[in-house]
Amino acid sequence: MAKILNLQVTLGCDKNCDACIKFFECTSPIKRELYDSPGLKKIEKRLKDIKYKIVVLSGKGGVGKSTVTANLAGALKKSGARVGILDSDFYGPSMPTMMGVLGKKMAVDKSGRGLVAVETKSGIKVASVASTIEQQGYVTWMGEELRWGLFSFLGETQWGELDFLLIDLPPGTGEETLNVMKAVRDLDGGVMVTMPSDLCQVVVGRCISLCQKAGTRVLGVIENMGTLECLKCGKNIDVFLTGGGEKVCSSTNVPFLGKIPLDPKVCDASDAGEPFVLSYPDSKPSKMFMEIAKKIAEDVGYKLT
Ligand code: ADP
Repeated sequence: MAKILNLQVTLGCDKNCDACIKFFECTSPIKRELYDSPGLKKIEKRLKDIKYKIVVLSGKGGVGKSTVTANLAGALKKSGARVGILDSDFYGPSMPTMMGVLGKKMAVDKSGRGLVAVETKSGIKVASVASTIEQQGYVTWMGEELRWGLFSFLGETQWGELDFLLIDLPPGTGEETLNVMKAVRDLDGGVMVTMPSDLCQVVVGRCISLCQKAGTRVLGVIENMGTLECLKCGKNIDVFLTGGGEKVCSSTNVPFLGKIPLDPKVCDASDAGEPFVLSYPDSKPSKMFMEIAKKIAEDVGYKLT
């Protein structure tokens, strides 16, 4: 009996909300009290001058989530907003490369009490764990370290005043994603990125469920890398099928934000370190990014110029 009781206590609640996987499902009246740690209050304070905080999610890696984050940031910036990107992927941070700040380190601020986000040449602020270590260096984050690493990174980063902070989450609905969503309590919404294939629709559906459970409003789904326009004949080729984004939206009842075509120049721009939307403003993907950024901004209540 004692053993069973013990097991029930362990499976029930160990009063460690920070590490609890059932955090969003928990209805315990003491949850907030237990969770109100000084570390989280510090994060809240650091982010207080940011008007809108939006997470960008994808069910799996390689669907273009970071590319979409970089280009939405570019589109918002181009329309006059003050924008920052938080690269919360501790295992495979790619934002410094995509934003052209690879090798630029986050400086310790004058008071010695924080790290300053680096600024791209277009004026977008970027914070990534990759900007705190040597270019060829890496850190292997183990278990608890990952959560505390993220919490202290969020608690130490200085952004100043921003209109938008786009948070590039790691792929999937794992612990890292949950940690960010727990740490940033007042998220204004989540944007999902998917490729059109059936497989991607299933996994992005899980991200939608996670947002709904966490009380984060789903701003919509973006379908990336569907159609490729043949460079020779101009005919459209549906490389990874098409329409998957709309399908998942109609089955889950969330807004569909638009389709970004597959375009080799999008990839080139990422490798060259500038959002495509800034280097090729007149192209089809750029017009789509501008349109989607406008929808997102309007939805959260910000009027772009
Ligand atoms: P994720 O963040 O989902 O892992 P990335 O944004 O890193 O994916 O994109 C994976 C690869 O696909 C990158 O090389 C990127 O440049 C490329 N890519 C993303 N979107 C497009 C697109 N619309 N057209 C062409 N290449 C793209």
